[in-house]
Amino acid sequence: MRGRDDIPSPGHYEGHYDRSVPECLFCGIADGEVPATLVLDGKRVIAFRDVNPQAPTHVLVIPRDHYPTVAALAGAGDGLLDELVAHAHEVAAAEGIADSGYRLVFNTGRESGQTVGHVHAHVLGGRPMTWPPG
Ligand code: AMP
Repeated sequence: MRGRDDIPSPGHYEGHYDRSVPECLFCGIADGEVPATLVLDGKRVIAFRDVNPQAPTHVLVIPRDHYPTVAALAGAGDGLLDELVAHAHEVAAAEGIADSGYRLVFNTGRESGQTVGHVHAHVLGGRPMTWPPG
Protein backbone atom coordinates (compact mmCIF):
# COMPACT_ATOMS: atom_id res chain seq x y z
CA MET A 1 0.00 0.00 0.00
CA ARG A 2 1.43 3.32 -1.02
CA GLY A 3 0.73 6.31 1.16
CA ARG A 4 2.04 9.61 2.33
CA ASP A 5 5.82 9.86 2.36
CA ASP A 6 7.97 11.21 5.10
CA ILE A 7 8.83 14.74 4.09
CA PRO A 8 12.57 15.07 3.70
CA SER A 9 14.81 17.73 5.13
CA PRO A 10 16.26 19.24 1.91
CA GLY A 11 19.93 19.45 2.87
CA HIS A 12 19.98 16.04 4.50
CA TYR A 13 19.03 14.15 1.36
CA GLU A 14 21.34 15.64 -1.24
CA GLY A 15 22.41 12.94 -3.64
CA HIS A 16 20.07 10.39 -2.08
CA TYR A 17 18.53 8.12 -4.68
CA ASP A 18 16.45 4.95 -4.89
CA ARG A 19 15.10 3.38 -8.04
CA SER A 20 11.64 2.85 -6.52
CA VAL A 21 10.39 3.22 -2.95
CA PRO A 22 7.48 0.86 -2.18
CA GLU A 23 5.53 3.27 0.02
CA CYS A 24 5.94 6.23 -2.36
CA LEU A 25 2.76 7.45 -4.08
CA PHE A 26 4.58 8.94 -7.08
CA CYS A 27 6.75 5.81 -7.52
CA GLY A 28 3.39 4.03 -7.72
CA ILE A 29 2.26 6.36 -10.51
CA ALA A 30 5.61 5.96 -12.32
CA ASP A 31 5.30 2.15 -12.02
CA GLY A 32 1.71 2.23 -13.35
CA GLU A 33 0.32 0.83 -10.09
CA VAL A 34 -1.52 4.03 -9.10
CA PRO A 35 -3.82 5.59 -11.72
CA ALA A 36 -3.05 9.07 -13.02
CA THR A 37 -3.87 11.15 -16.09
CA LEU A 38 -0.54 11.11 -17.92
CA VAL A 39 0.30 13.94 -20.29
CA LEU A 40 3.88 12.82 -20.94
CA ASP A 41 5.30 9.29 -20.76
CA GLY A 42 9.07 9.46 -21.20
CA LYS A 43 11.91 7.05 -20.56
CA ARG A 44 13.17 8.85 -17.43
CA VAL A 45 10.47 11.48 -16.83
CA ILE A 46 6.66 11.41 -16.73
CA ALA A 47 4.03 14.13 -16.27
CA PHE A 48 0.46 13.84 -15.04
CA ARG A 49 -2.40 16.12 -14.02
CA ASP A 50 -2.60 17.16 -10.37
CA VAL A 51 -5.70 15.69 -8.67
CA ASN A 52 -6.35 19.01 -6.92
CA PRO A 53 -5.60 21.61 -9.61
CA GLN A 54 -4.77 25.15 -8.47
CA ALA A 55 -4.91 26.67 -11.98
CA PRO A 56 -6.48 25.80 -15.36
CA THR A 57 -3.24 23.95 -16.13
CA HIS A 58 -1.70 22.12 -13.18
CA VAL A 59 0.63 19.29 -14.18
CA LEU A 60 3.25 17.49 -12.09
CA VAL A 61 6.51 16.47 -13.77
CA ILE A 62 8.57 13.78 -12.02
CA PRO A 63 11.57 11.54 -12.63
CA ARG A 64 10.64 7.84 -12.71
CA ASP A 65 13.40 7.15 -10.19
CA HIS A 66 12.94 8.26 -6.61
CA TYR A 67 14.73 11.40 -5.43
CA PRO A 68 13.17 13.08 -2.38
CA THR A 69 13.87 16.70 -3.36
CA VAL A 70 15.11 18.86 -6.21
CA ALA A 71 18.40 19.25 -4.32
CA ALA A 72 18.84 15.48 -4.30
CA LEU A 73 18.04 15.37 -8.01
CA ALA A 74 20.55 18.14 -8.74
CA GLY A 75 23.11 16.20 -6.71
CA ALA A 76 22.75 13.22 -9.03
CA GLY A 77 24.50 15.24 -11.73
CA ASP A 78 23.49 13.08 -14.67
CA GLY A 79 21.38 15.61 -16.56
CA LEU A 80 18.09 14.35 -15.19
CA LEU A 81 17.15 17.70 -13.63
CA ASP A 82 17.82 19.45 -16.97
CA GLU A 83 15.67 16.85 -18.70
CA LEU A 84 12.85 17.31 -16.19
CA VAL A 85 12.84 21.09 -16.68
CA ALA A 86 12.94 20.71 -20.48
CA HIS A 87 9.96 18.34 -20.27
CA ALA A 88 8.14 20.82 -18.02
CA HIS A 89 8.53 23.42 -20.76
CA GLU A 90 7.30 20.91 -23.36
CA VAL A 91 4.22 20.32 -21.21
CA ALA A 92 3.64 24.08 -20.96
CA ALA A 93 3.93 24.38 -24.75
CA ALA A 94 1.52 21.49 -25.30
CA GLU A 95 -0.94 23.11 -22.87
CA GLY A 96 -0.69 26.41 -24.77
CA ILE A 97 0.79 28.40 -21.86
CA ALA A 98 4.48 28.60 -22.85
CA ASP A 99 4.08 32.04 -24.45
CA SER A 100 1.63 33.55 -21.96
CA GLY A 101 3.80 32.32 -19.09
CA TYR A 102 3.67 29.68 -16.42
CA ARG A 103 5.02 29.02 -12.96
CA LEU A 104 7.41 26.15 -12.28
CA VAL A 105 7.44 25.24 -8.57
CA PHE A 106 9.52 22.75 -6.60
CA ASN A 107 8.21 22.78 -3.05
CA THR A 108 11.18 21.60 -1.01
CA GLY A 109 10.83 20.49 2.59
CA ARG A 110 8.07 20.73 5.15
CA GLU A 111 7.71 24.49 5.50
CA SER A 112 7.49 24.96 1.73
CA GLY A 113 4.35 22.85 1.67
CA GLN A 114 5.94 19.72 0.17
CA THR A 115 3.59 16.84 0.94
CA VAL A 116 4.95 14.10 -1.33
CA GLY A 117 8.57 13.09 -0.82
CA HIS A 118 9.31 12.27 -4.47
CA VAL A 119 10.61 15.35 -6.31
CA HIS A 120 8.00 16.94 -8.57
CA ALA A 121 7.81 20.16 -10.54
CA HIS A 122 4.42 21.83 -10.55
CA VAL A 123 3.64 23.40 -13.94
CA LEU A 124 0.95 26.01 -13.24
CA GLY A 125 -0.65 28.37 -15.71
CA GLY A 126 -3.66 29.46 -17.68
CA ARG A 127 -4.43 32.39 -15.38
CA PRO A 128 -2.49 35.41 -14.07
CA MET A 129 -0.37 34.48 -11.04
CA THR A 130 0.07 36.64 -7.97
CA TRP A 131 3.17 37.27 -5.86
CA PRO A 132 4.11 36.62 -3.09
CA PRO A 133 2.88 33.01 -2.99
CA GLY A 134 0.89 31.96 0.04
P1 AMP B 1 3.46 19.20 -2.92
O1 AMP B 1 2.48 19.69 -1.90
O2 AMP B 1 4.33 20.26 -3.52
O3 AMP B 1 4.27 18.02 -2.39
O4 AMP B 1 2.60 18.66 -4.13
C1 AMP B 1 1.99 17.41 -4.13
C2 AMP B 1 0.87 17.50 -5.12
O5 AMP B 1 0.47 16.19 -5.45
C3 AMP B 1 -0.38 18.23 -4.63
O6 AMP B 1 -0.64 19.35 -5.48
C4 AMP B 1 -1.47 17.17 -4.73
O7 AMP B 1 -2.71 17.70 -5.13
C5 AMP B 1 -0.90 16.20 -5.73
N1 AMP B 1 -1.36 14.82 -5.65
C6 AMP B 1 -1.51 14.08 -4.52
N2 AMP B 1 -1.90 12.82 -4.85
C7 AMP B 1 -2.00 12.79 -6.20
C8 AMP B 1 -2.38 11.79 -7.15
N3 AMP B 1 -2.72 10.55 -6.77
N4 AMP B 1 -2.39 12.10 -8.46
C9 AMP B 1 -2.05 13.36 -8.86
N5 AMP B 1 -1.69 14.36 -8.03
C10 AMP B 1 -1.67 14.08 -6.72
